[in-house]
Amino acid sequence: MSFQFQLYIDGQFEAGAATFPSVNPATGQAWAQMPEARTGEVNRAVEAASRALTDSAWGGLTASARGKLLYRLADLVERAAPRLAEIETNDTGKIIRETSSQIAYVAEYYRYYAGIADKLEGSHIPVDKPDMQVWLDRQPVGVVAAIVPWNSQLFLSAVKLGPALAAGCTVVLKASEEAPGPLLEFARLVHEAGFPPGVVNVVTGFGPECGAVLSSHPDVDKVAFTGGPETARHIVRNTANNLAKVSLELGGKSPFMVFADADLQSAVNAQVAAIFAASGQSCVAGSRLLIEASVKDEFLARLVERVARIRVGLPNEMETEYGPLCTERQLRNIEAVVERSVNQGAKVLTGGKALERDGYYYAPTILDCTGVDNAESIMTELFGPVLSVDTFSSEQESIEKANSTVYGLAAGIFTTNLTRAHRVSKRVRSGVVWINTYRAVSPLVPFGGSGVSGHGREGGFAAALEYTTTKSVWLRTSDDPISDPFVMR
Ligand code: NAD
Repeated sequence: MSFQFQLYIDGQFEAGAATFPSVNPATGQAWAQMPEARTGEVNRAVEAASRALTDSAWGGLTASARGKLLYRLADLVERAAPRLAEIETNDTGKIIRETSSQIAYVAEYYRYYAGIADKLEGSHIPVDKPDMQVWLDRQPVGVVAAIVPWNSQLFLSAVKLGPALAAGCTVVLKASEEAPGPLLEFARLVHEAGFPPGVVNVVTGFGPECGAVLSSHPDVDKVAFTGGPETARHIVRNTANNLAKVSLELGGKSPFMVFADADLQSAVNAQVAAIFAASGQSCVAGSRLLIEASVKDEFLARLVERVARIRVGLPNEMETEYGPLCTERQLRNIEAVVERSVNQGAKVLTGGKALERDGYYYAPTILDCTGVDNAESIMTELFGPVLSVDTFSSEQESIEKANSTVYGLAAGIFTTNLTRAHRVSKRVRSGVVWINTYRAVSPLVPFGGSGVSGHGREGGFAAALEYTTTKSVWLRTSDDPISDPFVMR
């Protein structure tokens, strides 16, 4: 175990209050030592961010200059993508095929928000008083606590840091304790890009000692959180202290709806991508297949056949299509939920067990939950490679079943009927709908959910406005003295 990562606080790299090992999920062995931030480190990071906000080195920069720094960061991320991908694959077990292409694309998010920095305009209000001029000054919201999970962490940070920095905010970014390597390495690129000290701070540590201290800190103005619903409830309670603005991007149980008129082979491939890419550890995983009853047997036969051909292997080999889960806890949880679902009446069509090899591998699994409406695997997010299948016999029933969980993040609709695609996409409760495709993302397009999937949108222009606040400035243009102090106009 030779790698030693560091925290990044106020422009300096440091060791942290303690260290903890990070495990490579493909081997189950520790591969690096991570620095732990506790109260002292978190407080110093927030204080640095608070100072940097108004310091002339950052607070005095023009919006165009902030944009230029973001462009530079984008170039550095693009250049470092292979190294970052290797670290992410070691730390999370996510296959190198995906980490390398995803991180290269992360640069586009920074470029998109770099271009937005000098377009966050204020406005003039034609106020209803003849001797007044009123304008809205657009200002940064302040210090942002960006708290992210272990999966797709460079991407999930970019959708927070990009708009925050474009708007002139400063940031304390908290990487997950499960796999903080990629973001601690990313801090080196922030430094190299030339952001002034304190503008971006990168820490990691555990929930109570680090995340809770950060999200409840009195100097934090906004918490941008991505993670699970249980942690989100802690975050909301924590922000009762500082009354910070909060955005929540949480989990899902996204329906993947296939109508009999769909191109079935294309839908099979998309379903494999939706639930088995990243071994199902994706917030938008299409984990509930809703299949029209008349094509159920044909679709499932093709799906099971395709799943049998998935290449399981070591995540750092380019030909591998399917790797381990990130943590042993995650593996044990999935084993338990699948067992309980089977006891409830679900039938295992393929998989249903851990793979017999080193590391935290769980087989790609399909459970037929037809007629077992309350199966645990169909109602709760597993964040793993388990597809639960149910059927429908009418469009109305497909929508009712799609909307039958507490989540509302994403949905897939597979049909060649154009009018149906419009009708169903309108009525499905989710922040994102993909029609005849799945898992497509772009910096230009808002992303987020509703219900237990959270609120707020990341990506797109409007997300940058979320990192700003307005100041209404009144200027009296009359030269006449104010005469009556008891009548305000
Ligand atoms: P998690 O909620 O356990 O952890 C997320 C972050 O919160 C970590 O950095 C963790 O240290 C921190 N944290 C833990 N306790 C805290 C506390 N009390 N106060 C403040 N911070 C605290 O999530 P995870 O297991 O790492 O990730 C998986 C979850 O993330 C899944 O539910 C998944 O669906 C969700 N997710 C959502 C999206 C999205 O965009 N909607 C994207 C990716 C993942």
